[in-house]
Amino acid sequence: MRSAAIDHFDARAVFRGLLDGADYRNRVAGTCIYRCPRCDHRIRFRWRSFYQANGRSIFQRQLQRVFDDLTPGLPADEQGFLDFYCPTCAAPTRIVFSAQDYTKIAYHFDIYAALVGEAKRVK
Ligand SMILES: [Zn+2]
Repeated sequence: MRSAAIDHFDARAVFRGLLDGADYRNRVAGTCIYRCPRCDHRIRFRWRSFYQANGRSIFQRQLQRVFDDLTPGLPADEQGFLDFYCPTCAAPTRIVFSAQDYTKIAYHFDIYAALVGEAKRVK
């Protein structure tokens, strides 16, 4: 696995529907749309998607390590990631986000970036 094959995309380059405010950027409010930069496949993510993904990965350990090496540390209450394979091109993808704890039971999720590997399938 060559780490050079994984590209960094800022949140705004691949997401639609994120909110900006006075003290936050790229916040998930309800739902947002991700567009795969390899194949243009669109996926709708919900707030719950980030809540449930926190701390788990579907990647094999070796691939997880490659992504971990490229995942920046964010200034946040907590940091999370959501790993998946694009349903169309099978590019391994990690969405990196910060979780701001705003009550005892809820979080705001702010998307930082997507790390996207090579497409494994052509359309
Ligand atoms: Zn794709």
